[in-house]
Amino acid sequence: MTRRVLLVEDEPEFQLLVRTALAPLDFELSVAEDGEQGLAQARAGDFDAILLDLMTPRMHGYELLQHLRAEPGTQHIPVVIISAKTFASDQRKALDMGADAFLAKPFSSDELVATLDRLAWRTRVTFWGVRGSIAAPGPETVRYGGNTPCVTIEHDKHLLILDAGTGLRRLGIDLMRRARDTPLTMQMLVTHTHWDHIQGLPFFVPAFVPGNQLNIYGPRSVDKPLEKVLRGQMDPEYFPVALGDMSAHIAVTELRGDPVTIGPFEVSYTYMNHPGVTLGYRVAMGDTVVTYATDTEPYRSLLKQARPDGQGEAYGRKRDAQLVDLAQGADLYIADSQYAPNEYDKKVGWGHTCYVDALDVAIDAQVKRLALFSHDPMHDDDAVDAKLAHCQALAAERDASLEILAATEGHNVVLD
Ligand SMILES: [Zn+2]
Repeated sequence: MTRRVLLVEDEPEFQLLVRTALAPLDFELSVAEDGEQGLAQARAGDFDAILLDLMTPRMHGYELLQHLRAEPGTQHIPVVIISAKTFASDQRKALDMGADAFLAKPFSSDELVATLDRLAWRTRVTFWGVRGSIAAPGPETVRYGGNTPCVTIEHDKHLLILDAGTGLRRLGIDLMRRARDTPLTMQMLVTHTHWDHIQGLPFFVPAFVPGNQLNIYGPRSVDKPLEKVLRGQMDPEYFPVALGDMSAHIAVTELRGDPVTIGPFEVSYTYMNHPGVTLGYRVAMGDTVVTYATDTEPYRSLLKQARPDGQGEAYGRKRDAQLVDLAQGADLYIADSQYAPNEYDKKVGWGHTCYVDALDVAIDAQVKRLALFSHDPMHDDDAVDAKLAHCQALAAERDASLEILAATEGHNVVLD
């Protein structure tokens, strides 16, 4: 796949150097002569990387970098600073402001290509929908987002979609913009077929484009094949277009226990504790691991209620170890953390997790980052802030070094 690079540089000598280095390879280069032009081009195009000189006319590189990192349309694009100003303080400042690499001028063609390759092979996780149960758009959820679960993992130019909640609609628009008329092959893992995890599918534009391929993987439902359930939600009673009438080629594969390899993604999975049949996924890309375990509830809480003699809780702890195994050592653990402790008491048996329990799993599994996910539709942005702050305070009390974030629609996490 051709990689698109934007060079923001006014010196003809370095424009030529970059042009010469990238010409024999599969790159498409655009050049902006000053910072203002660079910002306009970055906003309008979809670039895989931006090469940025620090001392550009009209707007210097630092200011441009600030804009790139602040705007949702550009904040994910890797930025390489190219500069003859090699003061340690300048390099540190640029990296602190969100640059991904620093190349000191003059650099060789090999150094440039190696840097661009390294950035292309990073793993990026993007949240398209983070809300559990039902979409909850509105002024009170505008910061964290109201769409239901949809997450992507990008690695080595491959894309894996996790769940098809209402967040999938916007992903579809973004994929169409990026594809620019080339056929798309899309891989999707579905955890289960509750509405909030599949409702985006009928509105996923790339699935309507002839020549595109959509491969969907997930568990067989309780008493029906997965494909039949997906077709069911597009029955004419519910939706005007049938699954079979979508013009892309759609293949549905049921997962039956064995790990699967999808491009660079090694996928293993286990059952979650949730009504019906639900899977949680562990996705490994070389040494990098993302665990996606939403819509689950600790066995120990549920069994403690069912067996108040104490045996239930002990057995439940044993079963809960499966989830710790699934998340073990993950670079990013995306975890159901729907309820606050005072709410969970009243919602035992609803199939979701109190965020304190999610934190316990993250610490036990020694994950590097925990993303609190599946925010309750009744929780406004301030409630999610409070959930995050409480988890961070609890982790600090336990001297746990993991990074904790509250999953936010439109945001992404880069895993180096
Ligand atoms: Zn569910």
